[in-house]
Amino acid sequence: MRGDSKYYDILGVSPDASDSEIKKAYRTLAKQYHPDKNPDHGDRFKEISHAYETLSDPESREMYDRYGEDGPGGGGGGFGGAGMTQEEMFAQMFGGGFFGGMEDDGPRGGGRRSRPRRGEDIMHSLNVSLEDLYNGKTTKLSLEKNVVCTLCHGKGGKTGAVKKCTTCEGRGVKLVVRQVGPGMMQQMQVTCPTCDGDGETLRDKDKCKKCKGAKVVNEKKVMEIFIEKGMRDGEKIPMKGEADQLPGIETGDVILVLKQKPNAVFERKGADLSCKITIPLVEALCGFSKVLVTHLDGRGIHVEQPAGKVIRPGQVMKIVGEGMPHFKRPIDKGDLYITFEVEFPKDGWIKTGSDAKTLEALLPGRGPTPIEPELVDHCTLEEGDIEDYGSQTHTGNAYDSDEDGDDDIRGHGGPGVQCAQS
Ligand SMILES: [Zn+2]
Ligand SMILES: [Zn+2]
Repeated sequence: MRGDSKYYDILGVSPDASDSEIKKAYRTLAKQYHPDKNPDHGDRFKEISHAYETLSDPESREMYDRYGEDGPGGGGGGFGGAGMTQEEMFAQMFGGGFFGGMEDDGPRGGGRRSRPRRGEDIMHSLNVSLEDLYNGKTTKLSLEKNVVCTLCHGKGGKTGAVKKCTTCEGRGVKLVVRQVGPGMMQQMQVTCPTCDGDGETLRDKDKCKKCKGAKVVNEKKVMEIFIEKGMRDGEKIPMKGEADQLPGIETGDVILVLKQKPNAVFERKGADLSCKITIPLVEALCGFSKVLVTHLDGRGIHVEQPAGKVIRPGQVMKIVGEGMPHFKRPIDKGDLYITFEVEFPKDGWIKTGSDAKTLEALLPGRGPTPIEPELVDHCTLEEGDIEDYGSQTHTGNAYDSDEDGDDDIRGHGGPGVQCAQS
């Protein structure tokens, strides 16, 4: 049973609003009622901040939902015992600079928690070949990372030598208020100059000999990575807890992102592969029995194509089961699609007229001769580039023809086609 919904009402959200809805509502209202901008509504701002302070923390929100404003004991001082003032909370949420810095500070940001409970994950891309993804591979990767110092156990020095910074009270940041214009105050959050943002101070002579007070040391670690058959470009392999260590928080993961290098022969789409294969005209017409392509595991893919089963330029054929292995069930494979190109003979390959006749006798007939129109132009074929198609725009307009006189009438074919009337 719910104790109270007042705080939700203040923020104008429903009691089952998500964290981000609450945060969004707070941002909007806090901007609207911030005392710098709206000095008459100071109490309203306090209410909003207090409601947000309670609802933005999962624990205090749960307590509030259960027991209401006064907490389990009744009549207590409410919630938000972390000692952060509304101003500080505001500054933290907006990253300093009153109306600037509205960028989202991520799912763990905001609220009163200034330190994440878990370290960041590190993305690392790993180049692999299509062969690796087909056959699977074990590889080694050397990574540098911070590990908690074993000499001081992450304390940075002898027990008791590390003191909480008095300037920032251990928060690592300080708030400064600055006037930026008439009646306009800007609040900035700056890194504490005393402790350099650490929140702690440590005298040089007390610093740990190994990590020199840094609590962590840089180490090189060689990791073994298993690339499984059928993995894809962009596939993520998480290495649990291998990211930089920091004392007192859970270590994040190193996430390897596979990046497939292009393959000279094959392209991949899902579990299928494709390739282009050029065969000579004689094979396109008379068939073949040969290794068409060498596969990613080095096997020759032999194909028998009978004579008379013509392969045409651009024709697509497939070999079932010769695609990529499926991830986690590598026995099942996709298909291999082959696009054929046919290499036609070079000019002058037929030496004599009688050779041409012999060949023609074997080829299908030319078909019936079409009836020719009365007027026929005799033309010559020249090499054409389809890129040039349409590049000849109207050059002659009415003015040009007038100036040039009447003899400017051009042939219909334009340059490149020479015609002679018969
Ligand atoms: Zn400090
Ligand atoms: Zn140390």
